[in-house]
Amino acid sequence: MESLPVLLSLCAAVCSAYPLDEAARGADTSMDHVQKYLENYYNLPKDVKQFVRRRDSGPVVKKIQEMQKFLGLEVTGKLDSSTLEVMLKPRCGVPDVGHFRTFPGMPKWRKTQLTYRIVNYTSDLPREAVDSAIERALKVWEEVTPLTFSRVYEGEADIMISFAVGEHGDFSPFDGPGKALAHAYPPGPGIYGDAHFDDDEQWTKDTRGTNLFLVAAHELGHSLGLFHSANTEALMYPVYNPLTDLARFRLAQDDVDGIQSLYGPPPASSDDTPLPTESVPPPPPPPETPAMCDPALSFDAVSTLRGEVLFFKDRHFWRKSFRTLEPEFHLISSFWPSLPSGLDAAYEVTSKDSVFLFKGNQFWAIRGNELQAGYPRGIHTLGFPPTVKKIDAAMSDKDKKKTYFFVEDKYWRYDEQRRSMEPGFPKQIAEDFPGVDSQVDAVFEEFGFFYFFSGSTQLEFDPNAKKVTHVLKSNSWFNC
Ligand SMILES: [Zn+2]
Ligand SMILES: [Zn+2]
Repeated sequence: MESLPVLLSLCAAVCSAYPLDEAARGADTSMDHVQKYLENYYNLPKDVKQFVRRRDSGPVVKKIQEMQKFLGLEVTGKLDSSTLEVMLKPRCGVPDVGHFRTFPGMPKWRKTQLTYRIVNYTSDLPREAVDSAIERALKVWEEVTPLTFSRVYEGEADIMISFAVGEHGDFSPFDGPGKALAHAYPPGPGIYGDAHFDDDEQWTKDTRGTNLFLVAAHELGHSLGLFHSANTEALMYPVYNPLTDLARFRLAQDDVDGIQSLYGPPPASSDDTPLPTESVPPPPPPPETPAMCDPALSFDAVSTLRGEVLFFKDRHFWRKSFRTLEPEFHLISSFWPSLPSGLDAAYEVTSKDSVFLFKGNQFWAIRGNELQAGYPRGIHTLGFPPTVKKIDAAMSDKDKKKTYFFVEDKYWRYDEQRRSMEPGFPKQIAEDFPGVDSQVDAVFEEFGFFYFFSGSTQLEFDPNAKKVTHVLKSNSWFNC
């Protein structure tokens, strides 16, 4: 599994001390800024220190070229003044490449009637001005698609719109005035589809500060499944354009093409020629396999594997990556011939690039599509007492390097670094995971949330708030 999209705030001191147009001065702080920018938006590896200062280093040059190409600058691979200038402009907090999308969510909504909720307001504008900016921003997309948006005032909407400063609970803290203005998540359950606005910006109705309508229209494009466009005319271009003529605002053809590739054009108006009513017979039903959209679908085990999510069921598994619309469906034996069917539990330890799979009192380790030597091993080698005959579900917290094993109504915690079960366990699941009270079939961790599966129900659990934040169908990941 790849790392979380940590859109680290650009050094606050740099941001406030240097006005936007003074790109070239302060070589050191500029270099820090460049490094952060390339890390945040172009996926420059974070583990290589002082990358940027060695300006001739291959990876940095490549990233600078990538950035210049994407943002429509002259591709020199050098940090010339026009490149630095663009890097200091306010922009969307969503990266231009890669990691934001490693989460195996869904790139489009599978329904056309969507709900939105304005969760809170900025004090920069009267509430009516916020309401109308959001409404107008949604209308931009409504006009060119079959999508409709209805506002709700409580509970969970598809698109939750909120204002926040700094750290706001999604591992993508805002960064004070300027720089990243807002970010939004692609379609999906929970936080997916939501749009967050940095309330350290001065939000306005015009272009004197940061125009809320313009930024909202862009962010809502993400909420609907669009990513950044390299077309400088497009609304989905990542850099904020304060010169946009608001009165005559319209989507670029690039934006229209993008959104219509996902949802098609708006329904034909009544004076269009009606479609012929006699149509071809429906396709035959698919062959007998577990139906991924069956509302009663449950899973044996769920685990991440190198950025994808594997959902195990009997002899099969679904493989969901963000880049594919539909999950792939395979026989377990076609990837790992010696693994059994009907697994009990599975979890990934990213630091070991390994997935551990459990059935009965044995477990196996795989790396990619290879089974590792020395397995299966007995579960008691992990430190379980003889009374434990099987594991119901398991999950590894990659940040804390702890693995949780769920067995009936109790759980154990294993320290991956010390390679031993932690003292003081087992504990009651209900005590430490309030709301997760029925037996757990499967669990995995993604984006800081724990997803518990029990029968056809899935609970999204926030380990920091220690509460269930969403109740979903188990197959919600398949976007049925
Ligand atoms: Zn964006
Ligand atoms: Zn956020």
